[in-house]
Amino acid sequence: MSTMIDAGVNLTSSQFSADLPSVIARAKSAGVSSMLAIGCDLQSSKESIELAEKHQLFCSVGVHPHDARHAPDSLYDDLSALLTSSNHVVAVGECGLDFNRDFSPRPIQQSVCLTQLHLAQAANFPVYLHEREAHSALMPLLNEVKVEGILHCFTGDKTALKNYLDYGLMIGITGWICDERRGQDLQQLLQYIPLDRLLIETDAPYLLPRTITPKPKSRRNEPMFLSYVADQIAHLKQCSAQTIMQATTQNFKQLFVR
Ligand SMILES: [Zn+2]
Repeated sequence: MSTMIDAGVNLTSSQFSADLPSVIARAKSAGVSSMLAIGCDLQSSKESIELAEKHQLFCSVGVHPHDARHAPDSLYDDLSALLTSSNHVVAVGECGLDFNRDFSPRPIQQSVCLTQLHLAQAANFPVYLHEREAHSALMPLLNEVKVEGILHCFTGDKTALKNYLDYGLMIGITGWICDERRGQDLQQLLQYIPLDRLLIETDAPYLLPRTITPKPKSRRNEPMFLSYVADQIAHLKQCSAQTIMQATTQNFKQLFVR
């Protein structure tokens, strides 16, 4: 059996607090050889480091655009210290812009994102980027720096995809691709994502793949369901799931394991 790496899981979510060791064990049994635990504010970044060390996983440290309004003035130095505090930390993020939810004012989202882009560049770490309905605002920020990274849970249009690929980013595909209704645009765009730029992620506990049958009683997504994302991509790209698993594992290592 080919193994896979889940490029993004929210392991610090309260939805996992009761049974995290079994969630991780189930994922390993299902062929998920490792995963990246996402930090989305300073507290969850610290917790992600602890989890990554305890369970031998990868993690990121950063502030999500939703939480940007709570970021301290000392964010650059705080994150910089966390980045080098453990060799399990492999990326700056989750950072970016979310103009869909707008939980933080846009100018604050932009400045907190830019701070993290500058940090990633200075520390030579890849970025773990979140963008919803904000492509035209994110590109000018990216163009102020030169960084590698993943545009996670890509749900944008063809222009956005082309610009992110031209910039050099890898594209993270979640269970969104398994959604027969809102995933249709993404399914059409998949053909434009080269195999060597593709990463797969569950974004668990969110985005339960709708192709799972029978559906789990709890609506919670888990990293053990990553193969549903790989299977759907393989189906759409008309190749084997093994090809997708091997390519995305290699891409993950190339980007994050240095
Ligand atoms: Zn996100």
